[in-house]
Amino acid sequence: MADTEKTKKKVYDFIVVGAGVQGSFTAYQLAKKKKKTLLIEQFTLPHTRGSSHGQTRMIRKAYEQDLYTHMMDEGYGLWATLEREAGVTLYRRTGLLVMGPEKSQSYIGFKNSLEKNQIPMVVLTPDNFHQHIPNVVLADGDGAFVDTTAGILYADRALKVVQGQFEKLGGVLKDQEKVTDIKPGPMVTVTTSAGVYQAKGVVITAGPWANKVLLHTGIQLPLQVVKINVCYWKEKVEDTYHVKKRFPCFLLCEGEEAKDHIYGLPSNEYPGLMKICYHSGSQTDPDQRDKQTDKSDIDILRRYITKHLPGLIPEPAVVESCMYTVTPDHHFVLDCHPAYDNIVIGAGFSGHGFKFGPIIGKLLCELSLGEVPSYDLSPFRIARFQTIIKSPL
Ligand SMILES: Cc1cc2nc3c(=O)[nH]c(=O)nc-3n(C[C@H](O)[C@H](O)[C@H](O)COP(=O)(O)OP(=O)(O)OC[C@H]3O[C@@H](n4cnc5c(N)ncnc54)[C@H](O)[C@@H]3O)c2cc1C
Repeated sequence: MADTEKTKKKVYDFIVVGAGVQGSFTAYQLAKKKKKTLLIEQFTLPHTRGSSHGQTRMIRKAYEQDLYTHMMDEGYGLWATLEREAGVTLYRRTGLLVMGPEKSQSYIGFKNSLEKNQIPMVVLTPDNFHQHIPNVVLADGDGAFVDTTAGILYADRALKVVQGQFEKLGGVLKDQEKVTDIKPGPMVTVTTSAGVYQAKGVVITAGPWANKVLLHTGIQLPLQVVKINVCYWKEKVEDTYHVKKRFPCFLLCEGEEAKDHIYGLPSNEYPGLMKICYHSGSQTDPDQRDKQTDKSDIDILRRYITKHLPGLIPEPAVVESCMYTVTPDHHFVLDCHPAYDNIVIGAGFSGHGFKFGPIIGKLLCELSLGEVPSYDLSPFRIARFQTIIKSPL
């Protein structure tokens, strides 16, 4: 009798593996649908070893692809719902200054998407740029506009809030438990460092560890894990680029300055320091992140800051670490497992997934429940990859 009760307690409707932003929102959505849900995290929460930690992330509708812009239309509303439910502020509007070679595909893509989707924006000219954005030098031949709906999300706070709401809805959150095995079947068996659980469905949202977890289910996806140096740069005069002075977030499209985007957030979390990063990094094993010491991205940033942000000291004052999990086309993976439709995968957020957290949670919940997803998920299907390695279980 005691044994049966013990086993019974460990059976859930759904188990979500990984309590980063995507797993936490998925678990919260499942709990909202009154599903008995277990969210498992390998580290002690909160932690700084994955992709969702840190105080801030950028939220924007400016995207080269319409699909993301459409998803963010709903995304803003879902962030606001969570703020209301929890009574906590998670979003601060700052606007996003987009700059880039006026004739480049990337810059045109961003601008067209906003125009087409009637997202409020202000186009700046070389003549009035300085008046609106002091202390930034616009490169010759660069265009500039501001997506006025963009801003900052308070990332660490958001994770704490969504996990708290999940628990309030009756969800079970277990940290310090690493998933060490997954046995597919009509009831999926999940073994961790501390116990064995069963569920009708499992969602894998393991961030940079996605392929390590997926190995237990017989597939490997073409995901590249890269370490990002999260750099903070000191203002020569404190508050020059401060959020309170209405300095916006910025994004520089690829061009002569850099092969990939450079992006920045106004000084906010650390007094006098502005976060500016390069949207690319060097490959790493997620368990060996600190052994990746490549700093070529910092050289690119240093050169850019020297020329274009004269109010900053061009030497990072603080360097933190984070990881991207990148797909070949930089689009997410949101799909059922090719062999088991009760295993759902959310992976490969390619360094731009945080803002979508509430939408991803909703979509992964819909896939788990066998519902028709709210958006066309064909760009996110696993079948688009040529190289899904099937490994024996
Ligand atoms: C420097 C930086 C800046 C960024 N800026 C932005 C931005 O401005 N805007 C934006 O939208 N996005 C941004 N992103 C991207 C965004 O943060 C990520 O896309 C998002 O956090 C990915 O979340 P995740 O839940 O997939 O991964 P993670 O947060 O890594 O979560 C996965 C979790 O799974 C756990 N896990 C893994 N394996 C196991 C296991 N075996 N057992 C139990 N648990 C396990 C991990 O410990 C981890 O907690 C940025 C990312 C970085 C690194």
